[in-house]
Amino acid sequence: MKILVDSDVCIEFLYYKAYYNANRLLIIELCLIVWYKTNSMKKKFHIADDAEIFNGKVTDIYFHRTLEILKRKTLDKPVVMEVRTRSLPHSWQWGILAGVEEAVNLFENKRVNLEILPEGTVFYPGEPVAEISGMYQEICLYETAMLGLLCQATGIATTAARCRIAAGGKSLLSFGARRMHPAIAPMIERSAYIGGCDGVSTVAGAELIGIEPSGTMPHALVLLIGGTVEATKAFHGIIDKKIKRIALIDTFQDEKFEAVNVAKAIGKSLYAVRIDTPASRRGNFKELIKEVRWELDLRGFKNVRIFVSGGIDEEKIRELSGVADGYGVGTAISNSPSVDFALDIVELNGEPIAKRGKESGKKFLFRCEKCFTDYIKTEYNKKLYCNCGGKLKNMMVKFIKNGKVIKGLSMPDKIRDYVFAQIKNPEISGG
Ligand SMILES: [Zn+2]
Repeated sequence: MKILVDSDVCIEFLYYKAYYNANRLLIIELCLIVWYKTNSMKKKFHIADDAEIFNGKVTDIYFHRTLEILKRKTLDKPVVMEVRTRSLPHSWQWGILAGVEEAVNLFENKRVNLEILPEGTVFYPGEPVAEISGMYQEICLYETAMLGLLCQATGIATTAARCRIAAGGKSLLSFGARRMHPAIAPMIERSAYIGGCDGVSTVAGAELIGIEPSGTMPHALVLLIGGTVEATKAFHGIIDKKIKRIALIDTFQDEKFEAVNVAKAIGKSLYAVRIDTPASRRGNFKELIKEVRWELDLRGFKNVRIFVSGGIDEEKIRELSGVADGYGVGTAISNSPSVDFALDIVELNGEPIAKRGKESGKKFLFRCEKCFTDYIKTEYNKKLYCNCGGKLKNMMVKFIKNGKVIKGLSMPDKIRDYVFAQIKNPEISGG
């Protein structure tokens, strides 16, 4: 007999069968199976799985009720819906669109068309970034998930890009997985990477991206071994040689002495020292780093880089740009503000329509390939030119046509290259 224990109905059914067979042993056996199955299937973490997202379990209830009403009234209409935001957090002038791969996965096999800016594209407030068309009942249950996928990933990728601009060519690592729910660490780190980080700290995040995870050593290792030099030597002796040796130098003693001690201990193998000193002990952090630099240089360790972590954000990166060689950014990137995208109907039955405060009608986003100026047009035209004479490119790409994915998704390193190419533009890096 196939045993289903998803619902009370199934459990009652099992009891009924057991009673019917008038077999007490069978009743006990079935009770045990039900107990075991129910408990083993209980989630240990408070997250929705793929099936629940696809089934609309994380959709706002008013969409379920809307669908119920529409179905009862056998009412359905073709719509065009667009995603855009009026403004960006912290008065940012631009954003980096992320979460596109998951959005495409969400709508695959639904009878809809999805046009969206390729992942990593720079966009400005007020511009459409995605457009879904199809029968409304087919889209209704996915609005919440679609927005959630784009809003959070875009905030993270944008902060990472801003930190990248501040850091210039220096090393930038995402260390903030510990500040957020572990179930979404891979999404956070992928977004941080495509936005501009060089590396990420968790294994699952790095696997999703297709890179090696990055890290140094925790204070716990130094405390357990009992000394900074001893911990650095242990790391050097045991950990794979291809991993860069970066010593944490602020556990026990003054950073400048520990920096010199670890440099003397493992010599040229030392790639960098990391200072993670809490703000309460720092005084002037920049002066502290300068002091460490001075002592290292004086003893011939000019090659040893100085990495900083702990409370680092875009502003601190700028502040320390003359002295630090690399940055580990935590909360500032992983807990980036979400971008307030909305998904609105702009066309119904082929006619332009929109709620108050939104411009109706299907739109096309064109960008000048020469001067980066954007134009929102209501009609598509292949031969459009910018005021500067540059050719205008239609930025939205059709990824899904009637539920079929018709355009390949880029790998994270290609998306990151695309982001880098755009943020080089003075229009972006200056704002
Ligand atoms: Zn132009």
